[in-house]
Amino acid sequence: MGFSFIINLSYLVGAFSFVWGLRLLSSPDSARRGNIFAGIGMGVAIVATMIMPLVDAANNYAWILGGMAIGGIIGLISARRVQMTSMPQMVSIFNGLGGACAVVLAMAELNNYYAGINEMSLGAVGIALFTLFIGGIAFTGSLLAFAKLEGLVWDSTVTLPKHNIINMILLVVTLTLGIYLFLNDSLTLALVFMALSLVYGFSFVAPIGGADMPVVISLLNSFTGLSAAAAGLIYGNNLMLVGGILVGASGTILTVLMCNAMNRSLFNVLIGGFGGSAAAGKSLDGDQVAKSVNINDAAIQLFYSQSVIIVPGYGLAVAQAQKVCKEVDDLLEANGVDVKYAIHPVAGRMPGHMNVLLAEADVPYPKLLDLEEANAALKSTDVVVVVGANDVVNPSAEDDPASPIYGMPVLKVWDAKTIIVLKRSMRPGYAGIQNPLFFHEKNKMLFGDAKDSLSKLASEIKTL
Ligand code: NDP
Repeated sequence: MGFSFIINLSYLVGAFSFVWGLRLLSSPDSARRGNIFAGIGMGVAIVATMIMPLVDAANNYAWILGGMAIGGIIGLISARRVQMTSMPQMVSIFNGLGGACAVVLAMAELNNYYAGINEMSLGAVGIALFTLFIGGIAFTGSLLAFAKLEGLVWDSTVTLPKHNIINMILLVVTLTLGIYLFLNDSLTLALVFMALSLVYGFSFVAPIGGADMPVVISLLNSFTGLSAAAAGLIYGNNLMLVGGILVGASGTILTVLMCNAMNRSLFNVLIGGFGGSAAAGKSLDGDQVAKSVNINDAAIQLFYSQSVIIVPGYGLAVAQAQKVCKEVDDLLEANGVDVKYAIHPVAGRMPGHMNVLLAEADVPYPKLLDLEEANAALKSTDVVVVVGANDVVNPSAEDDPASPIYGMPVLKVWDAKTIIVLKRSMRPGYAGIQNPLFFHEKNKMLFGDAKDSLSKLASEIKTL
């Protein structure tokens, strides 16, 4: 039994772990196990790859271990520190680094080929150029997405007039150069091609903004997967190929799911449908006033109702109010109130965001209603409590064709008898648009931090 057999067997175990890990990730109950499973698979793959230099009798262990130590420490620290609400930024930066790796690998191979150190077939040159292109887009595109999400860069500062036309020209020039390089050898032009791919990645993301950013991050994630798969082909590394394809496929599926949930086409997202139009939509009359409610009245209303639906949103995650939300739920249930949760597919900042938060607070899964179930149940609900959600309960999506979110399926909370919205101010949500719900005759605002308001509600309910 030679080294090659052990390496290939380990890669098979790694590939199986990735697939099984993904399978387990599909439910909140098993997601943690899935993560561990896939992590073990990656560990096996790394050890197997470390054995490889022994086979080739040429090793770079100092470089490999040094890189792993630095990357591992940075990864560990950032994963421990990251807030749940900053997960998209984290995913974005990791994507970008994956793309950068692919660029470096492809450029190193092409350099060796042009210098006559390595042989490469025409097919292999094509794959290396593809890796360079896709990896370059993933790298700079993800860095810009990270900067936008962190609020370090504003759309207006990076978007030029007629930006989509500029992007089209840049894409055509870059692809033409890629085809030329496929047929002709030139290290200088390969470097120009790499630079153009990096510029295109930045420019591709520049006009996209607002609530479309998570979609773009997911798309860039699939690009990183593709570039890793292509790099796997260059090195003849089957596990890299399988891992890349899995990332590419899952990123693509996620992108399509998010687009469907917002009822927007990918094309519409990519041409920057949200850019510049954030303030669009019906303007609200200046004399419209939102009614507010105090803790005491809200507690009484909830305590004496028969059915309550809680709508969690991004604000619940910011306030980390999931546990106290469950406490209010328990208190109401103890009084015979039927409490359910309405989960919008894009509530929060990533798919499944609310499911993870509520699972953390031990909210039983059967209490969660998806969009269709919730909209059916809302018609016979006494009180809806909107906790830090905004865009996903905006009626403009239904009745205002001028609104940027027109057509997005939303939770029709106005079908319930009464609505209570918990948020800190009248500020808009992620899409940056006004929400007429706050002025609806059935609605009352409970201003304050969601955790604080829910804690006070829990204390008040205990006194009833
Ligand atoms: P929004 O971002 O629309 O609104 C969140 C609200 O929470 C804000 O209006 C804010 O109001 C309030 N808030 C923030 N902090 C607190 C706090 N500490 N206590 C109480 N309230 C708080 O959230 P939604 O979940 O409704 O919508 C998600 C948005 O993200 C949608 O636009 C969606 O399209 C987009 N998106 C989501 C994706 C996903 O996969 N989940 C993917 C793509 C896009 P205030 O500041 O006044 O408190």
